[in-house]
Amino acid sequence: MSIALETMSEIQPVAAEAADSGQQPGTCLICGGDRLTELLVAPDRFHLRKQRYRLVRCESCSGVWLASPPQPEEMGDHYTDDYHNAIVMAGEGSAASRWKDQVEMIAQNKSGGALLDIGCSSGGFLSTVKASAWKLYGIEMEETTAQRARAATGAEVFVGDAIEAPFLPASFDVITCFDVLEHVYSPRQFLTKVQEWLKPGGIFYAMMPNIDSWEARVFGSHWFGLELPRHLGHFSPRSLRYLMSELGFEEVCVKTPPVSYIERSAGYVGSTVVEKLGFSPTPQAKPKPRGLIERMVRKGLRLTVIQPLARIASVAGAGPCLEVVFRKATR
Ligand SMILES: [Zn+2]
Repeated sequence: MSIALETMSEIQPVAAEAADSGQQPGTCLICGGDRLTELLVAPDRFHLRKQRYRLVRCESCSGVWLASPPQPEEMGDHYTDDYHNAIVMAGEGSAASRWKDQVEMIAQNKSGGALLDIGCSSGGFLSTVKASAWKLYGIEMEETTAQRARAATGAEVFVGDAIEAPFLPASFDVITCFDVLEHVYSPRQFLTKVQEWLKPGGIFYAMMPNIDSWEARVFGSHWFGLELPRHLGHFSPRSLRYLMSELGFEEVCVKTPPVSYIERSAGYVGSTVVEKLGFSPTPQAKPKPRGLIERMVRKGLRLTVIQPLARIASVAGAGPCLEVVFRKATR
């Protein structure tokens, strides 16, 4: 594991210019604290590119974010077709079973009304809640993908940055946000909009990587959840609770479901080893079809090692994915 941990070994105080994402320089994007340290330095391992990025951690609230992130106009270079294909593939594979737990979680809190899915992609999640009880809305960055969502779900989909969406205050009973919060430049500004758009008593339901997970600690700069430089910020249960409470939300549930990024993260470690041996690794952005034997070995590992580990981490609240529900206060 020495390769995975190499960039975490020296935690250094961070110079005041580090945090430049629209906040006071040198202060935490979440709590405003000024005790910042360098968490790690790593490249974009999904595309296997060379440029390295630096993650900064706030010692007060445990929030983590990318120092000197690419400008919005540069992000097109990082959200490649390969990346979009990977996202769409992940969102569309048998939507009903993939989103079953999420639909149940919403049903436990709300029985119908107006639902907005921020980052709706091609409508994978929305297509599972198109029952007559819900009026559906989405926000998606890309027009072609938004058209697919409209066609599949009948939802009204705004195309563009979520902060710019022209929804009126107190419009929604439920706002969902799966794997989005880690992509925004200012989580505080984003969540303030969410709070404004929710009706009193409305719920915000989100999933995101957990930077305090066991996997993140073990794999370090090779952890799949880092997704540099597309993931601009990382939450832990502590930092998210801090921010949501400040913005006037009440906690309904904060947990880590039994999922795992171990295979993907181990793939990144493998790529580094292959590269150090002088060969050219295959980027996960351009996956090769797997042979029968490799598929069988992977399935065996999943059943005997990865799934049991994922269940233990979930019970301990230390899984790699945060699943949270917060309610907008009624007064
Ligand atoms: Zn902080």
